[in-house]
Amino acid sequence: MSDLLRDDAGTAVLLGSSCGGCGRPSFPRSDVCCWCGRPDPDPVELSTTGTLWGWAVVHSAPPGYAGPVPYGMGVVELPEGLRVVSRIDVADEAALTQGRPVRLVVVELPTGDPEDPVLRTWEAAPC
Ligand SMILES: [Zn+2]
Repeated sequence: MSDLLRDDAGTAVLLGSSCGGCGRPSFPRSDVCCWCGRPDPDPVELSTTGTLWGWAVVHSAPPGYAGPVPYGMGVVELPEGLRVVSRIDVADEAALTQGRPVRLVVVELPTGDPEDPVLRTWEAAPC
């Protein structure tokens, strides 16, 4: 699917790293720990659930965006202590609250490019 995630029957599993030196996780994977600089952190699969930390709802499509509006963009805090930027499911916008449990799901977005019409990415949906 990509270097960022694995599709587990519709659940988005983010592919991160864990450092054998400082013990801290990171996302996305890299060849060097972004916290201490140690090379070759261990590949790990991050939690598929977290809590909503902050978000904004976008009601007007930016140039080049072919997906549906409104859509949410926000920050999800994972149990590992990482905060990841994510699309946010805003089907029930009134239900979005800070600290709300969310799960990461795979979504498909139109790109507007006939040669590569679909982008598969993840979104945080309320649990
Ligand atoms: Zn480290």
